[in-house]
Amino acid sequence: MSSPQASSSSSRNGVCLSLQDVSISYGSKEAVRGVYMDIPRGQVTAFIGPSGCGKSTVLRALNRMNDLIDGCSIKGRVIFDEQDLYARHVDPVEVRRRIGMVFQKPNPFPKSIYENIAFGARVNGYKGDMDELVERSLRKAALWDETKDKLKESGYALSGGQQQRLCIARTIAIEPEVILMDEPCSALDPISTLKIEEMMHELKKNYTIVIVTHNMQQAVRVSDYTGFFNVSQRSDRESKVGSLVEFAETEQIFNAPKEQATQDYVTGRFG
Ligand code: ADP
Repeated sequence: MSSPQASSSSSRNGVCLSLQDVSISYGSKEAVRGVYMDIPRGQVTAFIGPSGCGKSTVLRALNRMNDLIDGCSIKGRVIFDEQDLYARHVDPVEVRRRIGMVFQKPNPFPKSIYENIAFGARVNGYKGDMDELVERSLRKAALWDETKDKLKESGYALSGGQQQRLCIARTIAIEPEVILMDEPCSALDPISTLKIEEMMHELKKNYTIVIVTHNMQQAVRVSDYTGFFNVSQRSDRESKVGSLVEFAETEQIFNAPKEQATQDYVTGRFG
């Protein structure tokens, strides 16, 4: 089996997360098969591909979020910080602290803007200056100027784009090393989307980011590396299963992909 790894990344930045022959099933149905990928540290990696090819499934495998789905099982290894995230002694709660996640639909807590940030930090045992943490997290999420005078107001009082930035601030406050984003802009207007994309450029100075996006222009704008997933059926008797077709620098995926299927997808021939 070929191993579509972005090898040049490994030497320059180091590998943050390494997927080694990862297959994931829901019950008896295999959703994605045989994924090998070295996700580079301190970069933005985008997952693209047609609906149902397993992008979100693989993303959730990176912080054991799939553990929360009944019947979901994984084979293979996901190495983070020299450890298999799925090894028996590894605590999934600690994994999710170090590898945070932002979802498609903004989901602030039914609490004040301040508490949206302070709550998780407190639960995680943060003992420092909470006001300072709240300000720092909101600043990193480019939301401080808009919220500094109304920190006691409900998170729900913010616009959709602001709520999504609040969720990003909440994730940052836990001080993760990696931020996973599952179509974080798909519910947002173009201006809010642009703000989040600009913020991602800033965030990658301190974090590794992995983003699932159905928007190819967004992948080009925000990512350094891109993985193209596809879904195929090998025989009449087999149901469709997703796989990683190609993983490389974003520029290569969009300008000179090695695989015909990648070329067809990025030029809009299917999807
Ligand atoms: P993508 O993100 O590329 O659209 P997904 O990872 O959501 O793809 O889905 C991959 C496959 O796994 C699809 O066939 C989908 O129906 C299936 N799947 C995803 N989530 C679940 C779930 N919670 N239970 C059962 N099947 C699921």
